[in-house]
Amino acid sequence: MDKNAILRQLPKMDAILEEGCLEILGRSTRTTAAKTVLEAIRSDILSDLLVVAPTYDEILAQILETGQAQSRGLQRVINATGIVLHTNLGRAPLPENAPRHIAETSLGYSTLEFDTETGGRGSRMAGLEAQLVNLTGAEAAIAVNNNAAAVLLALSALCAGGEVVVSRGELVEIGGSFRVPEVIAQGGAVLREVGATNSTRLSDYENAINTHTTALLKVHTSNYRVEGFTKEVDLAQLRDLAQKHNLPLIYDLGGGALIDLSHHEPTVQALISGGVDVLCFSGDKLLGGPQAGIILGRSDLVAKMHKHPLYRALRMDKLTIAALSATLEHYEDLEQAKEKIPVLAMLTTPLDKLKEKAEQLREKMLNVRNCKAEIVETMSQAGGGSLPGENFPSYAISLSPDKISVEDLAEKLRGLYLPIIGRIHKGRLLLDVRTIDPTDFSSIAWDLQEILAD
Ligand SMILES: *Cc1c(COP(=O)(O)O)cnc(C)c1O
Repeated sequence: MDKNAILRQLPKMDAILEEGCLEILGRSTRTTAAKTVLEAIRSDILSDLLVVAPTYDEILAQILETGQAQSRGLQRVINATGIVLHTNLGRAPLPENAPRHIAETSLGYSTLEFDTETGGRGSRMAGLEAQLVNLTGAEAAIAVNNNAAAVLLALSALCAGGEVVVSRGELVEIGGSFRVPEVIAQGGAVLREVGATNSTRLSDYENAINTHTTALLKVHTSNYRVEGFTKEVDLAQLRDLAQKHNLPLIYDLGGGALIDLSHHEPTVQALISGGVDVLCFSGDKLLGGPQAGIILGRSDLVAKMHKHPLYRALRMDKLTIAALSATLEHYEDLEQAKEKIPVLAMLTTPLDKLKEKAEQLREKMLNVRNCKAEIVETMSQAGGGSLPGENFPSYAISLSPDKISVEDLAEKLRGLYLPIIGRIHKGRLLLDVRTIDPTDFSSIAWDLQEILAD
């Protein structure tokens, strides 16, 4: 059949747009998706990639799939990278009770700023603050949109107009445009850097303190490490120095953990009892909850932050409060937290369990052709700048396709309706099972079988 005859068999745009099954897409998405799909089919016919016209139902299905992918701001993906807190893939997957609590409190009205006892206005932070204080032993707590906002609020409310003393070894960039010196400037304070990149002594801090000093700031160097000859001041010494001069000690911790995940990093509770006056950390790093910036500390300092005009601009919304509060509930029982909070479950999965997972996935892949697929040992990462230098041995399926390149295979897996994101290492595509939910194993095997079929 000649190309024009095939093209004439394609349905008309107007007819397609009348189809009831496409109504769930909304008018403009429907039109764009139909145009995209029809144009792609036409170009395939013209370049001989298609020699028969797809059926009407096939075309509708393609439009529906394209439209649904286009109409959502976010799409679920399968994280096979082994990076637990993958910043580009949404960091922490939430525990199951979080979406339930969001639905419960947000499909209708809630007590967001209402006190049921008095019938008057309540505080948006009251419930969350009580939970945080109970779990950590801090005097007071407040939470904002993310940890960058938390640090900015702390500096603006407590340090503006004065000098903030920071070690040169901690003037880091956390990613994007969050650089410690710039955040201090944005907070209206003057940076007073002390010591050297690899070594700062207590006397360096002490000599920098003057009548303009408003705080001592410590920053967790999350995503980088200074190795070799290094010296940093012990937290207890820094606390004593701050107390001697009646200055607050502020600590930007980055990924704060409420349970001990590493022998190198103190928990949030240990830092609070160790005398940090203001501690800032993320809700969606090691805590395993939604994006949030949690600030714990002395009541008088937290009250200042609460009253600062920036707080209104940086405050959390009700969906996040619901999700964070649900996540924190699990911490009342630490064993339960390790099971129910996905980030903690993934970080603490024993190696033999990971091997079992890899064997299960490999078993599902018996019908995958044209590809070598073997179980290999690999290294996962905590990610999100958390637990740097910590090793997480894991298992992966290593794929090496016979007929296409690994890059092509990776691209095809990314292009799926439910994208699978792996990691290329030494010419192989690795699917690290640490971050894969076993309920996705069948669909991964099925997709590989389809993509690699003759
Ligand atoms: C991640 C991180 C931040 C930023 O936290 P967000 O919650 O992503 O805004 C700030 N400081 C440190 C030390 C970090 O590790």
